[in-house]
Amino acid sequence: MEYFEMNNGVRMPMAGIGVFTFTPAEAEASVESALRDGVRLVDTANAYMNERGTARGISKSGVKREEVFLVTKLWPSVYENENAVDETLARLNTEYIDLLFLHQPTRNWKAGYRQIEKAVKEGKVRAIGLSNFSPDMLKEAFAFAEIQPQMVQVEAHPYYPQTELKALLNEHGMGLMAWYPLGHGDKNLIQEELFAELGKKYGKSSAQIILRWHIQAGNVIIPGSRNPQHIRENFDIFNFDLTEEEMEKIAALDKNTPYYQGSEEMLERYLSIAPDFNSQE
Ligand code: NAD
Repeated sequence: MEYFEMNNGVRMPMAGIGVFTFTPAEAEASVESALRDGVRLVDTANAYMNERGTARGISKSGVKREEVFLVTKLWPSVYENENAVDETLARLNTEYIDLLFLHQPTRNWKAGYRQIEKAVKEGKVRAIGLSNFSPDMLKEAFAFAEIQPQMVQVEAHPYYPQTELKALLNEHGMGLMAWYPLGHGDKNLIQEELFAELGKKYGKSSAQIILRWHIQAGNVIIPGSRNPQHIRENFDIFNFDLTEEEMEKIAALDKNTPYYQGSEEMLERYLSIAPDFNSQE
């Protein structure tokens, strides 16, 4: 495993599992098995409605809480609820969250940010993250923050390497966690000839080449999979290095086009989605 050191000195593993779209039972089973296999980073969210399942998976794995880097995200409907962090901690059955994100930059994000800062001061959160913030919104956050953020979580893969955003993050010593690191399973990306060629050279699959590219580009990754063989494969990427020339060839695949197009309308819609997170199994 390689580690990313954040601008506040906290270290996080560079690869872990994400449980987006998993039922509570699936989250429980996959977190348990991933931790047993040596994975130490888990990414969930209020909105995934599987924080309790994730917590059960951690507990059943037998791995000590302090050995797991636990990431979750507040949903916009709770940014103004001052119990949001405590309720999240209760669902996760833990006293602290390693990295807590604001999931979406809805117009009430500042209330959520102050809540996370308060939780940092109280020792309930170790690092602050902003998910789906554009470079302009990030600049607003840097100016607003009393405690500067550590990470962003955004879509990133070889077709959309986030070049502009990364320049800004580097200036602030911030890290990038890539969602859709494998392009959400897009066959066009995974079947690029270049990855097959490099895979042959290193004895790795195309997915492993893409994930290795992320690591060498400095991105933390959370590839999604329910397939145990894929999960194992996705972490077996720390025993080879792509050359600089190969990294450049992959950089040339940049289409500067995300799969997911956000919009003001979507953000307004997100704000109106307000499930009862405590009702989850
Ligand atoms: P991904 O890019 O990880 O792609 C997953 C797809 O790739 C699945 O179809 C899977 O079957 C396939 N796959 C996985 N490993 C493979 C392998 N070794 N070989 C071939 N195919 C393989 O996209 P994702 O799962 O949608 O996203 C990953 C994580 O990102 C989520 O679990 C979640 O934690 C996070 N996420 C965050 C946000 C956000 O708004 N912050 C949004 C979306 C996703």
